[in-house]
Amino acid sequence: MRKPVNPQATSHTAPVHKRASSYGSTTGAPKGVTAANSNTRISSATLQRPAAAPVARSEESNLGLNSGRLRSAMVQRLRTQGISDERVLAAMEAVPRHIFVDQALASRAYDDAALPIGHSQTISQPWVVARMIAAVCEGRAPTRVLEVGAGCGYQAAVLSHIVRDVYAIERIRGLFDLARDHLRSLRLNTRVRLTYGDGMLGLPNAAPFDAIVVAAAGIAIPQALLNQLAPGGRLIAPEGTSNQRLVLVERTSATAWKRTELEAVRFVPLRAGIQS
Ligand code: SAH
Repeated sequence: MRKPVNPQATSHTAPVHKRASSYGSTTGAPKGVTAANSNTRISSATLQRPAAAPVARSEESNLGLNSGRLRSAMVQRLRTQGISDERVLAAMEAVPRHIFVDQALASRAYDDAALPIGHSQTISQPWVVARMIAAVCEGRAPTRVLEVGAGCGYQAAVLSHIVRDVYAIERIRGLFDLARDHLRSLRLNTRVRLTYGDGMLGLPNAAPFDAIVVAAAGIAIPQALLNQLAPGGRLIAPEGTSNQRLVLVERTSATAWKRTELEAVRFVPLRAGIQS
């Protein structure tokens, strides 16, 4: 069963916008995926504008002074895009997304876009972050969640405003360090337990999880992650290579999982092993 929340998001034929990226190669990535256009709905027509002038990073800067207003506008946009869970909207309003991107991109931090974070990876589009969290939290209040693919730490920070125990895992050392620094600067390091490792294996010592959010696309959802879901727990992940979809999986018993396909998306690839 499909459950299109945003009609734009279900189209397979929407144009894929490409943009030359100076953030490294995308070797091995699905065709058309670059660090600048992934982790989005495929209909997103963003990142076509010229780079903005650098802005200062502190909360006292112009952007900092206006960031509350920009976040409110982002949350209003999420409402019009079909996100209705007030817990998710409040968490998106609370987390300063500009802290999680490079200073040169901070002025675009509240756009409806994924942005490069280095190492050919991206911070997910705000709608994608909100959609994934809303899907696993719908009709329930998870207390223990695992995020696979922490990247710069943004989604983990949003999750930490909703869920008591957040575990996040990242396979690229440089991004793990970046996420740790960002979470520390917001004093969220005590609320998010960050691990450097291969998230395809999950975190067996911390399992089971009420919810698992996977921020990178594999050909199939790793069985290790399905096994680490608590009964009644939900996992959301992008699945596929060139044609990807968000897939919501609910563990209905010890041996059964129910699968629902959601919107068409484009994510960076889920990769095995670690990168130092
Ligand atoms: N959650 C991030 C999105 C980061 S992009 C956000 O808040 O915006 C997806 C991330 O998944 C990348 O940083 C990539 O390195 C990571 N990744 C890919 N495969 C992985 C794996 N097997 N284990 C852990 N992280 C992985």
